[in-house]
Amino acid sequence: MPLALLKYGLSSDYPVEVDLPAPKELKPAYDVVIIGGGGHGLATAYYLAKYHGVSNVAVLEKSYLGGGNTARNTAVIRSNYLTSEGVRFYAESVRMFKELSNEFDFNIMYSERGQLTLAHTDATVRAFRQRAEVNKHFGGRTEMIDRQQIRELVPCLNLDPGHLPVLAGLWHIDGATARHDAVAWGYAKQAAKRGVEIHQLTEVQDFIVEHGKVTAVQTNRGTVRCGCVVQAVAGASSLLMNKLNIKAPIHTYPLQAMVTQPFKPFLDPLVSSSALHCYVQQTSRGEIVFGGGSDPYPLYNTRSTLDLKESLLAHAIEMFPFMAGAKLMRQWAGSTDMTPDYSPIMGHSPLDNYYLDAGWGTWGFKATPICGWTMAELVATGKTPALIKPFALERFSTFRQVNEMGATAASH
Ligand SMILES: Cc1cc2nc3c(=O)[nH]c(=O)nc-3n(C[C@H](O)[C@H](O)[C@H](O)COP(=O)(O)OP(=O)(O)OC[C@H]3O[C@@H](n4cnc5c(N)ncnc54)[C@H](O)[C@@H]3O)c2cc1C
Repeated sequence: MPLALLKYGLSSDYPVEVDLPAPKELKPAYDVVIIGGGGHGLATAYYLAKYHGVSNVAVLEKSYLGGGNTARNTAVIRSNYLTSEGVRFYAESVRMFKELSNEFDFNIMYSERGQLTLAHTDATVRAFRQRAEVNKHFGGRTEMIDRQQIRELVPCLNLDPGHLPVLAGLWHIDGATARHDAVAWGYAKQAAKRGVEIHQLTEVQDFIVEHGKVTAVQTNRGTVRCGCVVQAVAGASSLLMNKLNIKAPIHTYPLQAMVTQPFKPFLDPLVSSSALHCYVQQTSRGEIVFGGGSDPYPLYNTRSTLDLKESLLAHAIEMFPFMAGAKLMRQWAGSTDMTPDYSPIMGHSPLDNYYLDAGWGTWGFKATPICGWTMAELVATGKTPALIKPFALERFSTFRQVNEMGATAASH
């Protein structure tokens, strides 16, 4: 067997397929520089190259591909938001997600499992009714279900956790998961195939601005001139914007998650409760992933805390009492940039050729395809696509916030 393996490894009949070209020197200039090699930056690069013929593009990533929030998130994909702007935008992203494996010829392990959000108070039941109606209006598959239906859907769920009995649920059939790193790898591979350069270990440290435009980015590997710049750095958004004196109401909070030992399959839908600040899902490997709300104080740090572990697990055990015996395997965190209306900031910035993809808080993984698609269209045409017009930075000075707070808590 080892000999056969060795022969196979050395045989020229089976050349190793290289996903990304070997690292090379930075060119002195690019038409487009994208800062951040997470899902959003890579998707923008891919759609620019594939659909707009713009391939003189560099993606500059200070660490490794997808190593930011893309590889730290809990992979919830859904479109059951509250506002018409949000639902339209995320519904389009879900539609694109379903096609991504085909588009890449690479399995991103998209798995449609439905998402159940529990209502424990009358006020939440009323809010969920509104969400269900808005969703249906835009073609989403979302409906209210009662306790009996919840029992049938998730037999092992405790419907009477302590002081907060479950009254009803918002059942979102389109809810899904996908393998997060695969999404980043798929975009990276396909973008690189079309000529996009992806430079890891390349940090943008400052900018050269002339006549209201960014003419170059300064990196740890030298200065690179650019036609325009897309910023897609998630939790580091305000750090870069500060360097350009771009003001935005973003505060950065840690967001944590954790995972247990594997179990036999028992939980197909994603289950979430905003009152218990907890969401639970079982992965395809059988592990149980738990997540909750952001830490309650702004901080640039990705450490895990005992506080969160204790409170989150207490609530998870209220929902699924048998988990009291589960062994926790890992706990981790990412930095999330929160806006006051819990919606992203996308589009133009006060600088002519500097585009923003920021404010993704705890919910940006599911937006990866539509973000890349719309940001690429904006960069290539200079025109803001209708889907992202509501998310412009200027909404904070014109009082046109898109309030999604009720639809993001503990569901992501
Ligand atoms: C624990 C957790 C759970 C989450 N769960 C969900 C979920 O279930 N569903 C969902 O939709 N969203 C979820 N999110 C949010 C989601 O992960 C993010 O919104 C999304 O991944 C943002 O993608 P991105 O490509 O913008 O950012 P990232 O993947 O963070 O990529 C940004 C990249 O920019 C790089 N960078 C930063 N500064 C510089 C610089 N100066 N120069 C060069 N590179 C730089 C970073 O290294 C990073 O790789 C979760 C987040 C966390 C932390």
